[in-house]
Amino acid sequence: MEIRIVKSAGFCFGVKRAVDMAFKAAEENKGQVCTYGPIIHNPQVVEKLKAAGVAPVDEIDSNVKNILIRTHGISYELHEDLKTKNINIIDATCPFVKKAQQYAKLLKQEGYQIIILGDEKHPEVVGIRSYAGQEAIVVKDPQQLPRLKTRVGVVVQTTQPVEALQRLLSEIIKTARELKVYNTICNSTANRLKETEALAKEVDVMLVIGGRNSANTNQLARRCEAIGVKTYHIESAEELAPEWFRGVKVVGVTAGASTPDWIIKEVIEKLKGFGS
Ligand code: SF4
Repeated sequence: MEIRIVKSAGFCFGVKRAVDMAFKAAEENKGQVCTYGPIIHNPQVVEKLKAAGVAPVDEIDSNVKNILIRTHGISYELHEDLKTKNINIIDATCPFVKKAQQYAKLLKQEGYQIIILGDEKHPEVVGIRSYAGQEAIVVKDPQQLPRLKTRVGVVVQTTQPVEALQRLLSEIIKTARELKVYNTICNSTANRLKETEALAKEVDVMLVIGGRNSANTNQLARRCEAIGVKTYHIESAEELAPEWFRGVKVVGVTAGASTPDWIIKEVIEKLKGFGS
């Protein structure tokens, strides 16, 4: 059985940076590091970090000495609040997310009606919206657009597909007289999607590795399924079942941005065993 792996599978730049910062912070602060929510959407990595002394918290109380801000970033208000407390802030917000926050702030200062393309409840979008002001509107698709003003500014959740932005913009230009767009879609996500789709068309079975709570991993699995290839979404090698690969000549492997190399390697090693 031939195994083909998507080149860009696994940790993206932002996640790698955040995880490295977390382990370094744990070492420097004798393990007393908290993250506001899980640092990434991968239960295995969260467990490994816990063992190093990096634990997720839901509330930041007086017991928290060092707080690591995850790649999604946090709201402007929470950031300001943390600065007034005696807490060491380790800011691992992905620089691309920071950019989206800054563009949202700029659009607000320039008086645009702000439309954010993304998932309203996603922490990254909650953060971006806090910079755009509470009047900013979050939409997932053009049907959710409100009555538009003449000057419209758009900023995008980094993990949105480019097609969603194209659909949104073609609707907005029907009424807006002035449109300013910050395309804040991260190339890493788009590239991984593109490479995954290309591979899915060439193989008998696709394996998508990553947390079931990871939005970008789920998106990879949905795209593979939409292509019509038999797709399995797994979190670790333990879930692999030999019967999935009976009669399979070529298997494709991809992984979300929060999937570490060691999990991908374990899956490949187990797959090699099935093929022999
Ligand atoms: S997917 Fe892109 S924006 Fe998101 S953390 Fe990774 S590098 Fe940053």
